[in-house]
Amino acid sequence: MAVNLLTDIMYLSGVGPKRAELLRKELNISIYRDLLYYYPYKYIDRSKIYKISEIVDDLPYIQLVGKIVRFDEAGAGRKKRLTAIFSDGTGMIELVWFKGIKWVAKSLKPNVSYIVFGKATLFNGRFNIAHPEVEEYKPETEKVNASLQAAYNTTEKLKNSFLTSKAIYKLQQTLQQQVAKSIDDTLPPHLIDRYRLMTLPEALKQIHFPESASLLQKAQNRLKFEELFYVQLGLLKQRSLRMSKKNGHVFSVVGEMFNRFYSEKLPFELTDAQKRVIREIRKDMGSGKQMNRLLQGDVGSGKTLVSLMSMLIAVDNGYQACIMAPTEILANQHYETITKLLGDLPVKVSLLTGSTKKSVRNGLHSDLIEGNTNILIGTHALLEDVVQFKNLGFVTIDEQQRFGVAQRAKLWEKNDNPPHVLVMTATPIPRTLAMTVYGDLDVSVIDQLPPGRKPIKTIHYTDAKRNVLFGMMREQIKAGRQVYVVYPLIKESEKMENLKDLQDGYESIVRAFPPPEYVTVVVHGQMKADQKDFSMNLFASGKAHIMVATTVIEVGVNVPNATVMVIESAERFGLSQLHQLRGRVGRGADESYCILMSSVKLSHESRKRLSTMVATNDGFEIAEVDLQLRGPGDMEGTQQSGIPFDLKIASLSKDSQLLQYVRQAAMEILDEDPSLSLPKNQKLTKQLEKSAKEKVAFSQIS
Ligand code: ADP
Ligand code: MG
Repeated sequence: MAVNLLTDIMYLSGVGPKRAELLRKELNISIYRDLLYYYPYKYIDRSKIYKISEIVDDLPYIQLVGKIVRFDEAGAGRKKRLTAIFSDGTGMIELVWFKGIKWVAKSLKPNVSYIVFGKATLFNGRFNIAHPEVEEYKPETEKVNASLQAAYNTTEKLKNSFLTSKAIYKLQQTLQQQVAKSIDDTLPPHLIDRYRLMTLPEALKQIHFPESASLLQKAQNRLKFEELFYVQLGLLKQRSLRMSKKNGHVFSVVGEMFNRFYSEKLPFELTDAQKRVIREIRKDMGSGKQMNRLLQGDVGSGKTLVSLMSMLIAVDNGYQACIMAPTEILANQHYETITKLLGDLPVKVSLLTGSTKKSVRNGLHSDLIEGNTNILIGTHALLEDVVQFKNLGFVTIDEQQRFGVAQRAKLWEKNDNPPHVLVMTATPIPRTLAMTVYGDLDVSVIDQLPPGRKPIKTIHYTDAKRNVLFGMMREQIKAGRQVYVVYPLIKESEKMENLKDLQDGYESIVRAFPPPEYVTVVVHGQMKADQKDFSMNLFASGKAHIMVATTVIEVGVNVPNATVMVIESAERFGLSQLHQLRGRVGRGADESYCILMSSVKLSHESRKRLSTMVATNDGFEIAEVDLQLRGPGDMEGTQQSGIPFDLKIASLSKDSQLLQYVRQAAMEILDEDPSLSLPKNQKLTKQLEKSAKEKVAFSQIS
């Protein structure tokens, strides 16, 4: 049978229909190509053969060559085990099996030379290897074997059908023989030459059967290059397409509202970083091209103000602007902040959220379409079809990660010409992630906090220190300050249980801080809007000393007099969430504290998260640690952002240098050939189209 990369995996010798079904279900391998691109997760160095006398504790996996002297069977029923005494002339070691005993006893024979592979562990003063890999030892074939042997991830179900790492290795051998000749390179020759890359057929061979460590590295490098390259090329092509269109609204003047705001209303001097970013935005908005800009800045760096001043430029040029926030609380907060900042300037600002009353809505809708409303602030409610603008020219999406691509695209459809878009992140994103997830956006960074901020002191306490915590809370309250106590809300499905935590927490706080001396309020996501407002207002006005809340306060809440943020079960929060919560304090001139409460027992990862929080206040640094710990797939936001994110071999946490190199390479190509229409770039276009078809298109990110 003629085979190629698209052949159904079931036809590969050693697979068949039943295993094919399993491979598809467990590993998503259904055709030859899928298996070819199923890379090893590690390589085992099989070049060294140990002597039994050399074995010490804590060696990695080792190989021994010797013979089985005798078998012992011990125990009964489930506790049955088989032991083989194995000798190589320098000593003895026990090989032990707890499963598959019958099969082992039948297939292994005394006095045959075996090569044994496994991890030696010390048990009752003697070394043994549990469930070793055992193979007959033939010196002449052993030499042919690569010194680095690939190991593949499998699953319990696969192993039960004997599809072990070793079995997959054997399938790879068969596959390699059959398809090596039909692998077409996916990169054009000029790229391979320029960057001295290994060819694809060679790389796909070396990745499974490396002939040396350096060839393996070259193979990995080539495959990573390609993976990152096509992502970057797709994103950057999108960007150059946008830049080639002249369909952006031109905001040519900085007019009365902006100038009056700047000279009459601005309560403080802008930071240099804020000024720089506003300049960058102004330049975009005057260029005739549509702006798509990502604004990164740490918690509290003053992104809202940048957005407001950009919106005023839109208003000065006769356009409407809007801010979309992910929660009602945040939308309310923006509304209050912005109306207060604008004071008596004749700019009409409206608020539209899920709880805006119907009667109010109708008027709001007509104000929008008639152009009476200049700035609209709201939540998802803005995306509803009934919300129509007269001439929307500028959109800010705040705390961007929570909005899906499709949702954002809806805002575009509200106009013939797309509005300028400013996307603001809640917390910083690592560079590599920004380059990939937001790779077609231009990036502005506010890398400076407003002056006079004292760094927040972060302390990690276990539950045993609760009295110390309460003492400190009392002290702060006595000094006129206010305290947040936050409980985790991890998943929607845990809502009820979580509310119970919150309820219990609230009761214990009230016991320790009894009224009327102390006033404590509760806020959580399932409260009615007016109840929520009532509690928030008590706290914001300083009438309540303590606010017990879920993460609804994570974003946007701004009470400068609050100086203590207590985070309960802090080990259950992600790093960026912790950082975001911490950003709720330290907004005034007073020394502020963030107290992380956790149980004593912590996983390695949780411990690292908490110690990172204690060690640094820098959101960019925290984002990097987050990426290292979790990998990009799990980073907050990337799942929801709807961007295809399937890197098989490249890693955004480990390959950041390569990523920059590759992005540069993609840029150079697009500089020379923006539409990728030169004959030498045909392959690139074809490959991009293919990946667009296979995955979701790299649709516009905002
Ligand atoms: P974030 O970037 O986290 O959204 P905000 O825009 O909410 O930050 O700003 C945080 C706080 O800092 C607000 O109280 C805001 O009024 C204040 N602020 C913003 N810019 C400045 C500045 N240049 N000088 C002093 N305070 C500022
Ligand atoms: Mg903000």
